[in-house]
Amino acid sequence: MYQDLALYIDGEFIKGGDRREQDVINPATQEVLGKLPHATRADLDRALAAAQRAFESWKKTSPLERSRILRRVGELTRERAREIGRNITLDQGKPLAEAVGEVMICAEHADWHAEECRRIYGRVIPPRQPNVRQIVVREPIGVCAAFTPWNFPFNQAIRKIVSALGAGCTLILKGPEDSPSAVVALAQLFHDAGLPPGVLNIVWGVPGEISTYLIESPIVRKISFTGSVPVGKQLAALAGAHMKRMTMELGGHSPVLVFDDADIEPAAEMLARFKLRNAGQVCVSPTRFYVQEKAYDKFLARFTEVIGSIKVGNGLEDGTQMGPLAHERRVLSMEQFLDDASQRGGKVVAGGARLGDKGYFFAPTVVTDLPDDSRLMTDEPFGPVAPVTRFKDTAEVLRRANSLPYGLASYVFTNSLKTATEVSNGLEAGMVNINHFGMALAETPFGGIKDSGIGSEGGQETFDGYLVTKFITQV
Ligand code: NAD
Repeated sequence: MYQDLALYIDGEFIKGGDRREQDVINPATQEVLGKLPHATRADLDRALAAAQRAFESWKKTSPLERSRILRRVGELTRERAREIGRNITLDQGKPLAEAVGEVMICAEHADWHAEECRRIYGRVIPPRQPNVRQIVVREPIGVCAAFTPWNFPFNQAIRKIVSALGAGCTLILKGPEDSPSAVVALAQLFHDAGLPPGVLNIVWGVPGEISTYLIESPIVRKISFTGSVPVGKQLAALAGAHMKRMTMELGGHSPVLVFDDADIEPAAEMLARFKLRNAGQVCVSPTRFYVQEKAYDKFLARFTEVIGSIKVGNGLEDGTQMGPLAHERRVLSMEQFLDDASQRGGKVVAGGARLGDKGYFFAPTVVTDLPDDSRLMTDEPFGPVAPVTRFKDTAEVLRRANSLPYGLASYVFTNSLKTATEVSNGLEAGMVNINHFGMALAETPFGGIKDSGIGSEGGQETFDGYLVTKFITQV
């Protein structure tokens, strides 16, 4: 059975009624899984009013009580991970183990925010006169609106919810219409954990219409978006026009720098598997592979061998290592990348085409010999396609790695301390991974620079975007 789909407004789950509904499609079979109700204007107004009313009491709710609810969400998340994960595989496509893993790890986001929200401290500033008291307090900003994507439907949504709610804000969240089950399940988790009505509201609809309506509403004080750079810029411009705070988690085109002195074969193997996680539909996926000249042949041979060995199939079947792409748009996009690659002299050394005639499957693909200004080397592929190229020295590879407007994740493989230090200082990226993948933990900040975004989620920084600073001076 697939998740019952609904809106969640003011503590109430609302089914379709006479609302417009959208089919939810299984990307592995193209079968219709369910119907998702779109929010009407009246629904959005109700969600705004509920979030505004709930903010008055939620901001005064003690951090201890907020913490208790978030902790309960963590427990319930672990209990329901298998069922939620199965639904994610059905509507998003990723292999079941990856889907269940996504949900389990998210329980840690709830746990960590439950702990950290009890430590939102202010400070006392020494006064110029002895009888003056100067205090800085941090207060929740107010009603927030969030827009989350389909690639990690549970993870992307819970991270925004626990940050907003932990800080004392209330939230209206529009989840991904392509893969909605995880977000409805999240609403149920918070509902069952005892969250008061109106603190969290979930709506669905035409993304641009919902985001415009919510961002323009005077009730909303802050927005948070995860998705592509072009949409992020559009929403940031609208938020700017209305002087709203924002957190933007946007796309990346993560460079991988493999130096001659690295452990080449283990690096190639690790990178091949990491590249194909979630069929490459990951904002921090390693996507531009720069390999130093002496290591190039050995790296490419092992990398291509592992990429070619990955079992692609329905995520519910045993042994599947990579599922379909989440929707038809991604398959068309992969085909466009490969058309451009063949026109620009690229050599396809693995994969290169759609697989089968049912479902949105695409073969894990490796392309070599591309110029730096080809589409694959400059635009985020967001799919299972990896361009591999050579470099000579550190200065050259840093220049090439930093040449794009993106600045999200980056990866370095070297056994030289000097190289690791030089490159981690020189890379223009929000996150640098050296000889392993260690991002996206609850206790570490996650975010990009340049066009890849504004602000961080997770880590000690997690509440910064949801708090305003107030200075109080008293005599
Ligand atoms: P898209 O840009 O159309 O949509 C990306 C996400 O943004 C979707 O969830 C969509 O519902 C939402 N969205 C789109 N327009 C919106 C609007 N006006 N207001 C609010 N939300 C809006 O692209 P797509 O085809 O769905 O996905 C492909 C691209 O999206 C990729 O190239 C990648 O850059 C980006 N993406 C990034 C992440 C990430 O984790 N940063 C996740 C998913 C998708």
